[in-house]
Amino acid sequence: MHPCLTCGACCTQYRVAFHWMESDEVTPGGVPAALTERLDAHRLCMRGTYAPPIRCVALDADIGKYSRCSIHPNRPSVCREVDASWEYGKPSPQCDQARIAFGLPALTAADWRWRDDAGNDHPDDSGNSPSPPAIPPVAA
Ligand code: SF4
Ligand code: SF4
Repeated sequence: MHPCLTCGACCTQYRVAFHWMESDEVTPGGVPAALTERLDAHRLCMRGTYAPPIRCVALDADIGKYSRCSIHPNRPSVCREVDASWEYGKPSPQCDQARIAFGLPALTAADWRWRDDAGNDHPDDSGNSPSPPAIPPVAA
């Protein structure tokens, strides 16, 4: 099973900030505006991630056991950019730090053997997601 489906740690660790143009108020298929709040003149952030204790309002999870992003096809660009460690052959500091904060072990290449053996990719990235707007994401 994909490790993210039993984790969710990174959705409770970081401010999830992105350009306001990613909102579905201006970009069809974008991030649901009702789940965002204004961060500054140019950026929104996911509700629940503005300040600690952080937990994205879109997260449906029991961290370490079960996890789903309830807006996965419409999630912000910054969420798409966080790879799970070794998913694409290299470590991910954001993934490792988030997991360790919850007492979960950092992922290793061995956590992807199920996929490598089966030739699978991410279970939810089936090509149905809308393309994010052609603007660079703004780091939090
Ligand atoms: S990217 Fe890493 S921290 Fe985030 S849900 Fe996946 S395994 Fe957990
Ligand atoms: S939008 Fe989804 S992927 Fe992004 S932080 Fe929230 S729950 Fe996680």
